[in-house]
Amino acid sequence: MKAHDGLYIDGAWRPALATGAIAVVNPADEQVIAHVPDGGEADVDAAVRAARAAFPAWRATPPAERAAVLSALHEELGRRTEEIAETVTAELGAPPKLALAVHASLPVVVAGSFAELAATYAFEETIGNSTVLKEPVGVVGAITPWNYPLHQIVAKVAPALAAGCTVVLKPAEDTPLTAQLFAEAVDAAGVPAGVFNLVTGVGAVAGEALAGHEDVDLVSFTGSTAVGRRVAATAGAAIKRVALELGGKSANVVLPSADLAAAVNAGIANVMANSGQTCSAWTRILVHHYEEAVELAAAAAAKYVPGERVGPLVNARQRERVRGYIDRGVAEGARLVAGGTRPPLPTGYYVSPTVFADVTPGMTIAQEEIFGPVVCLMRYEDEEDALALANGTVYGLAGAVWAADDAEAVAFARRMDTGQVDINGGRFNPRAPFGGYKQSGVGRELGPHGLAEYLQTKSLQF
Ligand code: NAD
Repeated sequence: MKAHDGLYIDGAWRPALATGAIAVVNPADEQVIAHVPDGGEADVDAAVRAARAAFPAWRATPPAERAAVLSALHEELGRRTEEIAETVTAELGAPPKLALAVHASLPVVVAGSFAELAATYAFEETIGNSTVLKEPVGVVGAITPWNYPLHQIVAKVAPALAAGCTVVLKPAEDTPLTAQLFAEAVDAAGVPAGVFNLVTGVGAVAGEALAGHEDVDLVSFTGSTAVGRRVAATAGAAIKRVALELGGKSANVVLPSADLAAAVNAGIANVMANSGQTCSAWTRILVHHYEEAVELAAAAAAKYVPGERVGPLVNARQRERVRGYIDRGVAEGARLVAGGTRPPLPTGYYVSPTVFADVTPGMTIAQEEIFGPVVCLMRYEDEEDALALANGTVYGLAGAVWAADDAEAVAFARRMDTGQVDINGGRFNPRAPFGGYKQSGVGRELGPHGLAEYLQTKSLQF
């Protein structure tokens, strides 16, 4: 697979100062497909200096011109969707259809939305005798995960650039090739040198260096809650702004009046997409008409054949983690009705689509994020019980409510402690704010709310 052997800093691919390399592995066949530089602290420092030097000119660029550059980036990403999809399939293992429809195409839509927002957003407002200017925060350190490799990058870089910020990106070590393709698109779009910089490297070195760099003004992190807590502590100690998109354990609440089959089938599809590696996945199905739901869920999961509709997990460590949770579920008394830990294929980091019934709130699999193709079915007696279950984890990222009519579902959704709720199968909206309540995060991504994260206000009084 094609890979750059340098880092993209100050508008050019340059050799890393650090000498190590990261091997990129295809999780479907466990073969090494490329190597990329394992950037170190000095590389991060060089990238941050480039971003700082580029900031005064970029912040002074009129929003309409920033919008034009973002439109060009939107077009460049659109031109590259096939190459992006192939790369995501190679380094993440996503089935080709999913890679093209979601991993490659969604970021194009998101980039387009920020091109439009840059042109239309009110960067000034009047409040009484004040004019309030909304100004870019400065140099952004963006740290992204591997599960939606390009989407997570675009959801940070596009709004930051629209706001007038400059960026240093440290992508996940499992999916650096997609990040390199993004840097190529940035370059081709004519983004001025230093406005966007890419340092590949591992979290404990390059990630730490970026989060702790004294000349970074805002750290935007997406990843696990454990690392997010550490990044937030580092950033907080330096009084930097911080945005966190973390884990989830979202509830799919099927109210008694709902179309049970539609709700359960959509719920299984939601979790199995991307092999369960979706932070907003509805991994707990809360249901009243219980035994019927268990049968529906087991039958639906059986349709997701590993190697066809379901890809592998990203690496061996994740597969072992997920298997560990399945063993734990069995040990704690949950009833396995589909899947299990037996490898479904001889090679590749695959886990069979797995459904647990009789999951109770005290079980580990009811509380912790598994990040694999595992669904938990939980029984509730009445709506109050369902609400207590839905809100009964440390997370609050997403969720779903199904009922005979939208009004009944909305009444329930209002009482949920979570950042997004899909009503009766509502579609994903790339402009709606996305982010968590409780330990699922701080701040919002996407749309005008996502743009606002990269702005700070200055009030002028007249
Ligand atoms: P992770 O936290 O291990 O890694 C995320 C990023 O942080 C990677 O780029 C990694 O290199 C970097 N990193 C690791 N250690 C670091 C450190 N000490 N300092 C700075 N950076 C460091 O998470 P992951 O395994 O890549 O992703 C899976 C997790 O991410 C899941 O828990 C999932 O829920 C969460 N996630 C959340 C969202 C969201 O939007 N809320 C989206 C995707 C993934």
